[in-house]
Amino acid sequence: MTIAIKNTLVTEVEALLAGMGVTAARTGGTLAVHSPITGEELAQLVETDAAGATKAIDQAHTAFLAWRNVPAPKRGELVRLLGEELRAHKAALGRLVSIEAGKIVSEGLGEVQEMIDICDFAVGLSRQLYGLTIATERSDHRMMESWHPLGVTGVISAFNFPVAVWSWNAALALVCGNSVVWKPSEKTPLTALATSALFDRALKRFVAEGGTAPEGLAALLIGGREIGEILVDHRRVPLVSATGSTAMGRIVGPRLAGRFARAILELGGNNAAIVCPSADLDLTLRGVAFSAMGTAGQRCTSLRRLFVHDSVYDSLVPRLKQAYGSVAIGNPLESGTLVGPLIDASAYKGMQMALDAAKAAGGTVTGGGRVDADKSSGAYYVRPAIVEMPEQNGPVAHETFAPILYVMRYSSFEEALALHNDVPQGLSSSIFTNDLREAETFLSVRGSDCGIANVNIGPSGAEIGGAFGGEKETGGGRESGSDAWKAYMRRATNTINYGKTLPLAQGVKFDV
Ligand code: NAD
Repeated sequence: MTIAIKNTLVTEVEALLAGMGVTAARTGGTLAVHSPITGEELAQLVETDAAGATKAIDQAHTAFLAWRNVPAPKRGELVRLLGEELRAHKAALGRLVSIEAGKIVSEGLGEVQEMIDICDFAVGLSRQLYGLTIATERSDHRMMESWHPLGVTGVISAFNFPVAVWSWNAALALVCGNSVVWKPSEKTPLTALATSALFDRALKRFVAEGGTAPEGLAALLIGGREIGEILVDHRRVPLVSATGSTAMGRIVGPRLAGRFARAILELGGNNAAIVCPSADLDLTLRGVAFSAMGTAGQRCTSLRRLFVHDSVYDSLVPRLKQAYGSVAIGNPLESGTLVGPLIDASAYKGMQMALDAAKAAGGTVTGGGRVDADKSSGAYYVRPAIVEMPEQNGPVAHETFAPILYVMRYSSFEEALALHNDVPQGLSSSIFTNDLREAETFLSVRGSDCGIANVNIGPSGAEIGGAFGGEKETGGGRESGSDAWKAYMRRATNTINYGKTLPLAQGVKFDV
């Protein structure tokens, strides 16, 4: 396998950024940005300093005080215009995602499509921020709930969905009446600059149409965890949505709790699928291949554990190995490539350590080696690995953010279900079966303990219409669709007396 890559990405990146209206300097700073495709340096960005971060947050708070008074459907108009900018620049932003995060072209475009989808969703939502009207026990009274904006929404995002995660949060937060301050991954700040520039364009159009938009409504902080910590600790930030590793969530969660701020934690997953005797194996093969090898195993929802029933193990696993052995690995910008690079050297090292640990725990490894390392010394391409494990032990209980699929046999469905749930993480899960009882049991109260449970679909590739997130060490947060918007607002219960007497609840008497 040959990976023909030339170090020519800088020029293209400059053109893409200019086309999307990015004016920030790309040299002379301290944050070096690399493309995982070639390992070459794309920029050296100036980082936001502590004073700059605090100023942006304070300004976002002032912006919130004005933005909350703009009627929600008008706020929706700004998000509609953002969706238009994203549509107009889908190809450019998608390409930049591919260059900066190493995704294949269709996945880079898919990420931007997801941003467009959530904008559409949020525009509709801007007319549906309903509260309930509730029956009261007192005559001539009415009880209802009102939903009000919360304040500055902090967004901390991971490298692997460098822009979609911002939009899941920002589109909802903005229609809910909040301002947004975003600290993207230090590994993918260029796509964040581009997204921010597209937002500014939408804002200009909004104002030109007569809309009111305060300065600092959506701010961007460039830098690493220290800048993220300023967002986490700032008293004017009542909500932080943090996406990343469980290690990050273990620090961020308690810090937010310490000042009674809200958290939406979207952390690591260790997603599994169960392949049952009645499964359609052609469909299963495709579902497993995409979920486990797609995005080079660098999705929070990537398939990492596969439980295969004894009766189909020998039909499925050799075919799977064949697919792993022949999958097109290489430059993600070239058509036909299905598996691009790992994000960096430390991801490669983490993968090799996990494979060594799996071998030590009795696993048999197929694949997993570096591909064409000599032709791209600063880039890390690997053949996805299948590891047949005698049992669920060693590294299987941990998330390794790389394309490793641990395969285990099972004979009893109940045993497979128990093993499925017996890991600390709880993000996404699947069952491949044509047996109604197995499928429904998997979705039932005694089935999968994850935030996402699918039938005859792999665990990755969620749509924005549903609430997204997971349980246990995945953090418990929900964002995107369904009623996830409620996390971005505060609820007030209102009781109104339109009578002439003052009856007290529960029949309490207090006559003065
Ligand atoms: P990471 O935890 O290294 O970094 C994520 C973000 O958190 C970055 O912006 C980083 O600067 C910031 N950060 C780190 N420590 C911080 C701290 N103490 N205070 C404030 N900010 C801090 O994660 P990564 O390597 O970029 O991404 C991969 C991880 O993200 C995987 O574990 C993956 O499963 C997870 N992820 C989860 C979801 C989800 O929705 N559940 C989505 C995407 C990625």
